[in-house]
Amino acid sequence: MKYVFGNWKMYLNYEESVNLAAALAKEIKKIKGLEMAVFPTALAMVAVKNKLSKAAEIGAQNCAWTPKGAYTGAISAQIYKAAGCRYALVGHSERRHIFGESHDATRKKLAAALEAGLIPVLCVGETKEDRAENKVQYRLKKQLATALSGLNLKGEDIIIAYEPVWAIGTGNPCQPSDADDVHGWIKMEIKQYIKGEISVLYGGSVNAENVVSYVSLDTVDGVLVGAASSKADSFISLINAVAPPSKKLRS
Ligand code: PEP
Repeated sequence: MKYVFGNWKMYLNYEESVNLAAALAKEIKKIKGLEMAVFPTALAMVAVKNKLSKAAEIGAQNCAWTPKGAYTGAISAQIYKAAGCRYALVGHSERRHIFGESHDATRKKLAAALEAGLIPVLCVGETKEDRAENKVQYRLKKQLATALSGLNLKGEDIIIAYEPVWAIGTGNPCQPSDADDVHGWIKMEIKQYIKGEISVLYGGSVNAENVVSYVSLDTVDGVLVGAASSKADSFISLINAVAPPSKKLRS
């Protein structure tokens, strides 16, 4: 099974999110062999879930590390779970690099998501400088170790997203052969933390034109898509490229 996840970031307001969900629901009821999820603004989470019905799952873009209490402006994993979320992004590069989230914060959010019964999508990726200095594995090793050591997880508990920072929102995606190498390495590296098969998604400037070059690789279990998932035409074209319309099951 391949995954297609759409991170709508802060691109869409409430009405735009609901309209996009309605357009997706009309186009896609259920696709064989494909797990779809969207990560809308928290404000539109419940309305998007209602519009999508069974067409796709919903997930949180972020979560607080405590379940409840006096944390003004925060939304916990428990609250997202109660709203119907199945997934939560954790450690997205925009959280790490723009909001300054530390390894420790990522680790605590990951634990909170698991505790709430969400499936965390742990995002890892190197910067442009890391790559130029041949430090891709060094950076990923650190991100994986600080987030995962001692958690005793099974493969189905978590998803990893390999998202090179330099490829996110730049229109400059990672070459599929390079992504293949990194995904293969992650799958080996992760064995010390997680028992069983682990799904690793690629993210970074994925669109309808290049998506097949990633999902056709055995090491790539799916894609996490930002900008191209935030408009109906580009997201539907991308989904159709992964799962041609003949495979769509209308229920
Ligand atoms: C992302 O935000 O996870 C992402 C991959 O963004 P984009 O597709 O816009 O590069």
